[in-house]
Amino acid sequence: MSSSNLQIINSDCVVIGGGITGLTIATILQRKGIKVTVLDKSSEVGGRLATCNIDQDEANKGILDYGIQYFKVKNPQFQVWVDDWLTDRAIEEWCQGFNPKDSSPCYFGIGGMSGFAKYLAKNLDVHTNTEVTEFSYEKKWLIETQSDRQYQGDMLVMTSPVPQSLSLLDASFVPLPLEVRFSLEQLEYNSCIAVLALLEKPSGIPAPGGLELNDDSIAWLADNHQKGISPNGYAITIHATPKFSEDYWDSDDAEIIYKLVTAAADYLNSPVIKYQVHRWNYSSPKTFHNESYLALLELPLVMAGDAFAAPTVEGAVTSGIAAAKLISQRFGIKD
Ligand SMILES: Cc1cc2nc3c(=O)[nH]c(=O)nc-3n(C[C@H](O)[C@H](O)[C@H](O)COP(=O)(O)OP(=O)(O)OC[C@H]3O[C@@H](n4cnc5c(N)ncnc54)[C@H](O)[C@@H]3O)c2cc1C
Repeated sequence: MSSSNLQIINSDCVVIGGGITGLTIATILQRKGIKVTVLDKSSEVGGRLATCNIDQDEANKGILDYGIQYFKVKNPQFQVWVDDWLTDRAIEEWCQGFNPKDSSPCYFGIGGMSGFAKYLAKNLDVHTNTEVTEFSYEKKWLIETQSDRQYQGDMLVMTSPVPQSLSLLDASFVPLPLEVRFSLEQLEYNSCIAVLALLEKPSGIPAPGGLELNDDSIAWLADNHQKGISPNGYAITIHATPKFSEDYWDSDDAEIIYKLVTAAADYLNSPVIKYQVHRWNYSSPKTFHNESYLALLELPLVMAGDAFAAPTVEGAVTSGIAAAKLISQRFGIKD
């Protein structure tokens, strides 16, 4: 590509990652008058807030959440955000818990979790299909992407899963202090294989359409039709356990589908007419950084995400709120 086609976009703050952490940070900073640009490599915002379609024909069109299925609230600070999302009809309550030990509300995105992500992004400057490949710092950050655009900003925020952020720092030759680097390298994630299946008839999954199985192979089974996001298709999501996901990561899709659909047979009650497999390499963190974000003193660089708080949407938002507070202070804006 000739350099004359290159467009340079300036912001106060550039956020890598349009998952819920990045969208939370951008929302708070924008409310405070800071110009923020969010970059995401995928074609849609949301990251692990992910929804897809599997269609057979006009009469049978499945819509499936294949990452996070629902989220809960523990912290009153997070409840304030959730109340706004409920008022705006971006989310709704699915049920009061999926096991008798936990009867607090479970929320899901209206239009699927990616519909919720689109709602979060709707007033933000978000650039999808924009994979950051490297960056450098000299008075300002200069961020290179696979698109025909470069981005400049005073502050850089990384919200990709930590191993991906570390690879990007390496590709950019941006060193971290040794003890910080060591601590981030210790963070581990579970992987998760998801099977998405369109059934011919209604599933036999009992109301309200979600089951925590946690047996040898299946962690979670969901009926997206009962959940309300797939009105014209009996679409189910199967999440494998971390152990199964690790053991079968490199197996071909046909073997994975055979094993998981067989294991779920008691609950399906119907032939499978179409399916897909999705592999989440970084599904949820197993270990956590000891603070809710990481900020460098040497460089205007902040890292945030669920690995800095808890393996949930609440964890990601909590980390995002804390990181945004620090970034606002660095721009001289008080609460
Ligand atoms: C299978 C599964 C089940 C889950 N179940 C639950 C649950 O029941 N309850 C719950 O609360 N949470 C659950 N979670 C966890 C929850 O989804 C996450 O904690 C949360 O969504 C993390 O958000 P995030 O913004 O930190 O990261 P992500 O959503 O991973 O966002 C990171 C973003 O960075 C982008 N990116 C990465 N590298 C680059 C690059 N180089 N350039 C540009 N963009 C880049 C990615 O495309 C992605 O959009 C589940 C997750 C999965 C996968």
